[in-house]
Order: sequence, then C-alpha cells, then structure tokens
Amino acid sequence: MAPSHSSKPAHPDRDGHRLARLAREAIGEALGGAAAERLEPAGFDGPGATFVTLTLDGELRGCVGSPLPRPSLVEGAMDHARAAAFQDRRFDPLRREELSRLAVEVSVLSPLRPLACANEEELLKQLHPGVDGLALDDGGGMATFLPQVWNDLPDSRAFLSALKRKAGWPAGFWPPRLRAWAYTVEAWRDEPRPAVPRGPEAAGFRYPARHWHRPADGRLRCEVCPHGCALREGQRGRCLVRQRTGDRMVLAAYGRTSGFGVDPIEKKPLYHFLPGSTVLSFGTVGCNLSCRFCQNWGLSHARDLGRLRERATPKAVAASARRLGCRSVAFTYNEPAIFLEYVSDVAEACHAEGLATMAVTAGYLEDAARRDFFTHLDAVNVDLKAFSEDFYRRIVGGSLQPVLDTLRYLVHETDVWTEITTLLIPGLNDSDREIIQLSEWIADDLGGTVPLHFSAFHPDHQMLDRPATPLATLRRARTLAQAAGLRHVYTGNVRDPEGEATFCPGCGRAVIRREGYRVVDLRLGGKGTCDHCGTQIAGAFTPVGTAAHFTA
Ligand code: SF4
Repeated sequence: MAPSHSSKPAHPDRDGHRLARLAREAIGEALGGAAAERLEPAGFDGPGATFVTLTLDGELRGCVGSPLPRPSLVEGAMDHARAAAFQDRRFDPLRREELSRLAVEVSVLSPLRPLACANEEELLKQLHPGVDGLALDDGGGMATFLPQVWNDLPDSRAFLSALKRKAGWPAGFWPPRLRAWAYTVEAWRDEPRPAVPRGPEAAGFRYPARHWHRPADGRLRCEVCPHGCALREGQRGRCLVRQRTGDRMVLAAYGRTSGFGVDPIEKKPLYHFLPGSTVLSFGTVGCNLSCRFCQNWGLSHARDLGRLRERATPKAVAASARRLGCRSVAFTYNEPAIFLEYVSDVAEACHAEGLATMAVTAGYLEDAARRDFFTHLDAVNVDLKAFSEDFYRRIVGGSLQPVLDTLRYLVHETDVWTEITTLLIPGLNDSDREIIQLSEWIADDLGGTVPLHFSAFHPDHQMLDRPATPLATLRRARTLAQAAGLRHVYTGNVRDPEGEATFCPGCGRAVIRREGYRVVDLRLGGKGTCDHCGTQIAGAFTPVGTAAHFTA
C-alpha cells in the first residue's frame, strides 16, 4: 500500500507530545515521583475538553474525561490523567511499578456538534463511522464513546447499541428527551520505553514512536518532519522507518544498524569539535528527503529494512565506542532525525560513558521534534543544501525554511556545537549570487563564527549528468563567504591545504593544519586558544563533561 502524504500538519504549532508527557508526569507525581515540570505545551492555551486513556501492556487500564470544556485544557488533562489512574471504578488504583509500562493518550475534543434526531435511524444517518465520537444525554447524565471506540466496533449500529448499554438503557429503548452530539478528537500518546529483544525477534521489533497524533479523519499523522505523513493501517511514512501499526505509530529501525565505522571526526565534517579525535559512526536506513545527488543512496533510499543487519542496543553502541578508543558517537550515513527515539537512547548511554554525541543531519524537522532530537546531541553538522526554495523543492524533495529554522534554533537556543556543509553542484547552486546570499544569511542570522564547509560534488545516484565540482569553484565560494563576514570557511572532498586549515581570527596564523581528514599540526591551548596570540577559537575543544563552547 502506498503511503499517503499531506504537506501540512493540522495544527503544526501544537506540542501534543508534551501534553501527553505532562499527563504522565501528573500521574508520576501522584505516585510520589518528582513534581511535574509544568513546561506548558505550546498551542493548548485556554479552555478545552479532554479525555485521558491509559493502557498497560496493550490492555485498557483507565479512561476518564469529559466532552465539556474545562477553563484550562492543560489542567483538565492532568486532572483526568490522575482520575484515570486512581479513580476509574473499573480498575484498581494504578501502582507505582506499573507506571513505566503505561501508555498515556490524551484526546483533545472539538466543540460538540448537536445532532437533531427523533429516533435511532435519524441519528445513525448523521454519524461518521471511524471519525465521530458520540455523546448522549437523557437528562440523567451524559454517556459517550470516543472515536477510538470505532476500532473495536466498526459497525454504526453496534457502536450505538454499545453506547446505549453503557448508559444503562435497554435495547430498543429511545429516551423521549434524548439529546445527542457528535465530536471529533485529536489524540497524542506518550509510550513507555520497551526492552529491546535479543535473538531473532530483534528483527521484527518495533519501538513506540513519538511525535504523532490522531487527527479527526481517522489517520495517524507523523509530526517529525514537515511532510506530515498521514497514515492508514500498515502504511509507512516517506522516510521508510516510521510506520502505523494498529492505532499507534512505531519506529521500525530501533536497536539495529546498517553498519559501523571508526572515523576521524574531521570526516563528518566537524573541524571545531574535539579536533583529531576518532568517532564511532553508525546509521540505519531511510531518509525523509530524496536528494537526486545523494551520495549514500543505497542506505537512504532503501525500500526495505533488510540492510539493518547488526543488532545494536544503546548500551552496546556506547561500549563499542569506548572499546575502540572513540571520544564520540556519530549518527550519520542516513538522516538520524527519522529515528530520533533510537538516537536519544543511544545518546543517553553514551553520556553515561563520558562520550560525546553528534549528528549529520539535513535539519528538516518540525518544532517539537527538533527540540526533542537536538536535546541529546553535543555537536551537529547541518547540510544546508542550497539557498533557494526552488532547489529544495525540485532537487531535494523538501523546503528550505524549516532548515533555516533549525539552524537558528541550534545557534540561538541550544549549546549544541554547530557547523554547516553545503555541497556545491555545478550549475545548480554554485552561482556567486547564491553563495553570497547563503553566506550573508549565516553571518547575519547565526554569526560569523559558525564554520561553513563547501564540499565537492561527485556524480552519483540520479545526477550522473553533472561534472564534479572544480577546486576553483570551492575556492571562489570560500573567498566570497569570507568577504561576507564568515571567519571559518573550508573546502572539502578535495585536497586543498589552505581550505583545510583553521586560521586564528586574531593573528591570522594557522592553528590547525589538516591533510585530508588527518590533523597534522595543532597549535591550540587546552581550551582552544591560539598558541601564538591567545585568541579564543570558536568551538568545543575540551573532553566531554567539561566541554565549553566558545563563539569568539
Ligand atoms: S519523519 Fe517520516 S513519517 Fe514522519 S513526516 Fe517525515 S517522512 Fe513522514
């Protein structure tokens, strides 16, 4: 089945993932855990109606809510979470040891839509199966079914009969003063963290995905990147690895990799982050973009998961990096943002071992997923593939603006050390005008100390009709970017001693000389100061745990 796509999430500014997490934290706090952080989830200010549904190992464990709005939607969701955990009379109160296995789903209801109906047949005609929730009131109290109940009762008549039974009415009874309303919901779920299986079952393992919700149309919409794939049962997103299974989204690329490599960190490229150190690189499969010039298309454009051959739990990745003498782990080879749940768990294991983490990413993300993804990283190289929407639309299959938003976010709102790479393709993105625009944007919006790497294109994948980038083009680009105010501009994928070196912005002398990916001369003090004049060089040069970033 082909996945369906939509260009826009229904409510791109709503952080429903945070709302569901807050509901979990409210339960945890009631069980004696740490107080809920109360970071207000964006987009849910003001009144609103919610239900909170708890499931334990896939079985219902509580559900409480109201179709009527509360003055604060967020407070209402937290109250309903606590009530579902401890006051749903169908279940014993939740125990502390169950919390880590609990899935918490928050449904946010639309305003109620009155249904004018004198009998059952009239009501059934107005009901949209799979989409509408239904609320009935005979004057003695309201009974309701959320739209999620259609998953178990797909027939309209059975759905209505079951709701009447829930209200305590006999079959065939139609209350004379009955009032009925329909509504839709959007729902977000916070999943527990499962154990990764060993042995052959590892291949079929699916990890609960974050950043998706259930819009009113019955599909599940992924909110990781701006494609906003809206999926029906069994469908996969455009990235291959995020998939709908039943009523949840899962990550199919957790705990297994397409392979490892030990690289100099300069190969990523990162020139101002732990220079001269080695990094354990690994990736999975799939990508949310479809660059026609992709130089790793065997992995990024794979159409099945068969290349995920090596089992790699987060702890095993960190242990391997330690054993191999690496100081960091890199998520690279394919786009890591599409498997961000795996990234965050590996990063946590790495930090526990005193290792740094870094990613090579296209930065094509929605806001909440962006915050989640970069929280776990120490350094990043972002591919800024061009400086035109047209190039992103025609050649890349995405758009430029979200990438610029990512770069602004990284530089202005995080401590993640950030470098940028632009692959220059002859005739497509290498004009003086575009290079100047791109460089001026970096200098003005991000600052002149952000390193920029101009990298050489080689014909590959669907772009075999273009020549490789001449060295002269890379040098011209470097000169233009320096004139625009950037202090650290490099040429890459070619041998170019001048373009590979880091120069002190204070005295102009070379402080790091490189040959290919090898550091051959390092003239920096322990914290990254120039040996000659003492000027602080922008970057992160100290071991993990003591790392400080300098933007001088
Ligand atoms: S991350 Fe994948 S599934 Fe999610 S919106 Fe992007 S392409 Fe679609």
